[in-house]
Amino acid sequence: MKDGKLFSFDMLRKTFSLEKEDFYRYLQLRHYADTKMRNVTMINTRLMELFIKSYNSETIDRIVSCLYKGLMDLKPHSTSYIRTKWEKEGGIKILEEEWTAIWRYQWMCTSSQKWREFGWKCLIRYFITPSQKSHDDDNPPACWRNCGNQSANHYHIFWDCSILRDYWREIHNALQDIFKREISLESKTMFFGYIPQEWPKYDKHLINILLVACKKNITRKWLSPESPNISTWMEITMEIYNMEKITASVNHKLEKFTSYWENWVKYITPHRPDFTITNQ
Ligand SMILES: [Zn+2]
Repeated sequence: MKDGKLFSFDMLRKTFSLEKEDFYRYLQLRHYADTKMRNVTMINTRLMELFIKSYNSETIDRIVSCLYKGLMDLKPHSTSYIRTKWEKEGGIKILEEEWTAIWRYQWMCTSSQKWREFGWKCLIRYFITPSQKSHDDDNPPACWRNCGNQSANHYHIFWDCSILRDYWREIHNALQDIFKREISLESKTMFFGYIPQEWPKYDKHLINILLVACKKNITRKWLSPESPNISTWMEITMEIYNMEKITASVNHKLEKFTSYWENWVKYITPHRPDFTITNQ
């Protein structure tokens, strides 16, 4: 059976010119299919029965409510296993409503599909860690930053690594400076981007962009023993700033853009006079 599955990866590899690293993703998908698809099929069957009844003109009480419940059933099943993995690795608890809000923020972040997708990839655990890689080779899953950790999983690589401690602290100080308020120095806020609902819309928008830039800074140093630093975070943020500005200009939304980025401009102008920031 195992050989059969490996053979099928070989076929996929030849057909789609996949790289060796895609094998880990193949294993992830295979595991998902083996363990989760049974539930999805069961729910789909439930929804399917509803559609069949409807096409047969059978009377269905509260059809909208039934449909809604069926669809909502699908939603937690699609990502709840990911939330469980994060919770287990970090020894944290993410409530259902927090998890939903965290995903919603990813889609509100920037007007660029590329950056939204990047935020999504971080949450979905797309990037390959030593912990995953060790399932296939005989190397121990040690952290590549040489911090001494021997089981470097996603939570460790993105948040918990001792080499990243100063980086996250500096980012945290910068964010408190930018938004002039107390911000919790915990992974739920800083890595997952769970921002309290009462924050103004413009601030929620900006902090999500700043946090996505922060994570990009980490993946740009993927496999490097060095920690990312706050200076490159500022540069990545300016890349996003400039791109968002062009998009806003094309769409005649410069006024909104200026409101969104006001706090960033106030912060970055004295810190990095080498950046060219204009209001036009
Ligand atoms: Zn480490």
